[in-house]
Amino acid sequence: MRILVTNDDGVLSPGLTALAKALAKIGEVWVVAPDRERTAAAHAVTLHKPLRVQELGKRIYAVSGTPVDCVNLAVLKLLPAPPDLLVSGINKGVNLGDDVLYSGTVSAAMEGTILGIPSMAVSQEGQERFHFDAGARYAVRIARLILKDGLPDETLVNLNIPDRPFSAITGVRVTCLSRRRFDNPIIEKVDPRGRTYYWIAGTRISWSRSKDADHEALEQGAVSLTPVHLDTTNHRALERFRKWEMGRRPVAATKPKSKKRS
Ligand code: MN
Repeated sequence: MRILVTNDDGVLSPGLTALAKALAKIGEVWVVAPDRERTAAAHAVTLHKPLRVQELGKRIYAVSGTPVDCVNLAVLKLLPAPPDLLVSGINKGVNLGDDVLYSGTVSAAMEGTILGIPSMAVSQEGQERFHFDAGARYAVRIARLILKDGLPDETLVNLNIPDRPFSAITGVRVTCLSRRRFDNPIIEKVDPRGRTYYWIAGTRISWSRSKDADHEALEQGAVSLTPVHLDTTNHRALERFRKWEMGRRPVAATKPKSKKRS
C-alpha cells in the first residue's frame, strides 16, 4: 500500500508530520509537499519557472511549487508507481464550504482525483494550537474505509476536525458544503512610508445551504466528512439555458413555436 501525503502549509508543518506518522501504520508513506507555506494557493500550477525538488529524507521531498505542482510531480515523476491513496493535510485551520475554492489543501486532493487516485483533504479547526493527534487518528480511520470501499467517480473526501481532544469528539457526520463570507474582508492601513496598503482578512460568517452543513458538525463537536464532486456543472439549470435565444440554433434542434402577434 503506497500513500502520498502533501499539504499547503509546507513540508515542515507539524500537521503534515502528524499525518504522515499516523498513515505509516497502514502503508508506505511518501511525502511530497511545498518547501514553504502555500495556503490559499487553490489550484494554481507553476508554468513559467523551473520547479526544484529537494530530497529531505527517505521518501520526503520538498518542492519549490504549489500543492498541485507537488501532486503532479509525485504521481507522474517521483513515485515508482501511482499511490493507492492521497491524503492532503493536516491543514492548520478549517476548510469548510466555499473554502474549498481557495484551499491549496483541498486542491491537492482535487488534483489527485483528476489523476484517478482516491484522495482526501484533512483540515483541523484551531487558532495557535492544534489537536493534530485527533485529526491524524480520524484521517487513518477514514483512509482505511476509502481503501476498503473506494470512492465514487470524480469524488474526493473533505474532512474537517473540530478543535478538541480526541476523547471529546462526538463522532463523524456526513455533511454538505456551507456558504460563508467575511465581515470587513479588506482592511486598509498605512505603511511606515505613508503609503496605503490593503490586507485581505476579516471575520468569518458561515451559514447553511441546506441541512447537514459542514460548519454545524464542527459546532457540535463532530468531525465533518463532505463528499466533494469535481463536476461543478449545474445539471438542474441545463434546460433553462437551452431555452435562451442565443442566435443560430443547432441543425437538429426542434423548430420553436411561432409567437402570436397581438
Ligand atoms: Mn494551509
